[in-house]
Amino acid sequence: MEYNIKQHLVPGFEKALPLDSTNNNQPRQTPGVAGATVVPKNPSAPQLIIASDALAEDLGFDPAYTNSEDFVAIFSGQKVVEGTTPYAMNYAGHQFGHWAGQLGDGRAINLFDIKNGDKTWTLQLKGAGRTAYSRTADGLAVLRSSIREFLCSEAMFHLGVPTTRALSLIKTGDQVMRDVMYDGNPAYEQGAIVCRVAPSFVRFGNFEVHASRQEYDLLKDLADFVIGNYFPEIDMNQAEPYVKFFKTVCEKTLHLMLEWHRVGFVHGVMNTDNMSILGLTIDYGPYGWTDDYNYQWTPNTTDRVERRYRFGNQANIALWNLVKLANALVPLIGEDTTELEEGLLWYQNNYKSKFTKMMADKLGLFEEEENDEALVTSLEKLLHKQEVDMTIFFRKLSDINPKTHDKVEALKIVKEAFYQEFEPIGENKDAWLAWMEEYLIRNQKENISSGDRQQKMNTINPKYVLRNYMAQMAIEKAENGDYSLVHELHTLLKTPYEEQPEFEKYFAKRPDWARNKVGASMLSCSS
Ligand code: AMP
Ligand code: MG
Repeated sequence: MEYNIKQHLVPGFEKALPLDSTNNNQPRQTPGVAGATVVPKNPSAPQLIIASDALAEDLGFDPAYTNSEDFVAIFSGQKVVEGTTPYAMNYAGHQFGHWAGQLGDGRAINLFDIKNGDKTWTLQLKGAGRTAYSRTADGLAVLRSSIREFLCSEAMFHLGVPTTRALSLIKTGDQVMRDVMYDGNPAYEQGAIVCRVAPSFVRFGNFEVHASRQEYDLLKDLADFVIGNYFPEIDMNQAEPYVKFFKTVCEKTLHLMLEWHRVGFVHGVMNTDNMSILGLTIDYGPYGWTDDYNYQWTPNTTDRVERRYRFGNQANIALWNLVKLANALVPLIGEDTTELEEGLLWYQNNYKSKFTKMMADKLGLFEEEENDEALVTSLEKLLHKQEVDMTIFFRKLSDINPKTHDKVEALKIVKEAFYQEFEPIGENKDAWLAWMEEYLIRNQKENISSGDRQQKMNTINPKYVLRNYMAQMAIEKAENGDYSLVHELHTLLKTPYEEQPEFEKYFAKRPDWARNKVGASMLSCSS
């Protein structure tokens, strides 16, 4: 069965850039190299829990391959494919606003690159043991967070949000010690490994580490490798390729921020080492979905006080992170940094209009109009005033027929999105009716039939997202050996925009019990 891999292997990062190839996994600084080779840990009893057949197919694997022993051996770290050199990447980062120095893949091990058709992919194990970058930690991952990574990266992909993917989730059979809430109560949990897949796992921090060490040749080699392989639109022979590169990263990053907002996703740890150079969602840790369109909300307990990475601040933080990337690229550009600054200015100047366009699309307003910004702003004010379920509210808007419904009827249609009793909301109700009236008038100007309007809106506003409590329920069952809910949610989230009557129960507000539950509304970085 190994032919599935071998016939598709291509050289990647590990061949293009210098690595420390001693296979030494003692924690250390690694100046002068882009990474360090490492042999994955041998798991004691690996067992496949779930695989993504769709991704296996994209990779060119035989459909039956994910059920084979060979697959489990390779993607649990038990077996290294002949001719490949597993390695951890060297990167640095700014964490919670502060320079943190070298970090690196502390528990991610890149196995190899595969080419299928015109696409290349890096396959990486998360949780396969210590690397040169593990610092004081164990290089392992627990079942709980591996389920969260597997389900969410697949959910994001099917939502159309740029993301790293997940090929498989394998239980290692080993125990891992974790202090879930950092409260001095550590306990053993089941170990697991996700095979993550992306065109590249290079982060902003990969550039930062070489810039900080004044390793400018290496910095240039890294930039050339990334541009040459992942930015085909940039011609290295034309003027200012690195500036173009930076501007493209600004565009991709802004797009990602809008996409997160569109579906209500909160990453939770937007450190520069968790920012993909390709504008992908990467490193699913204490992420969450805002149930109630709450700009202040963050799922990450570590960030509870400052709320740096709250829902409403993600676009600002992305820009802050881009400034750090720009600084790292300065050595490639020379004294005059005006052009880099232009990339940042472009982001600043375009964010608002692109945000309004994205929100107008969610509202079914497809022909741009000057007043849309005001309509969006007044809606946001209302949504912030009381708890309104974001997913249900926007999805239900498509049931409104602006040509036949009046404001009272229209408001009734979105009624189930409100967390509190709807009728006695006093002055809010008047404000809502006023907004709805304006909304209907604005909608009537659109040149679209109500059927087409609904259809189009339903490709923008998902019916199903991975609400925090849903992942938590799947985890609790899985920890007792029952993986049925992991499979059920995976199936559900493959077609998040489709009506799925058998899963209507998931088109519901967050249940009350989940409001303040660990795992369902509060998450630590412990994973
Ligand atoms: P994160 O914020 O989870 O992306 O992680 C920040 C840094 O800590 C990265 O360098 C990770 O590789 C490292 N890290 C996180 N968890 C572990 C672990 N269990 N073992 C080793 N390194 C880890
Ligand atoms: Mg990380």
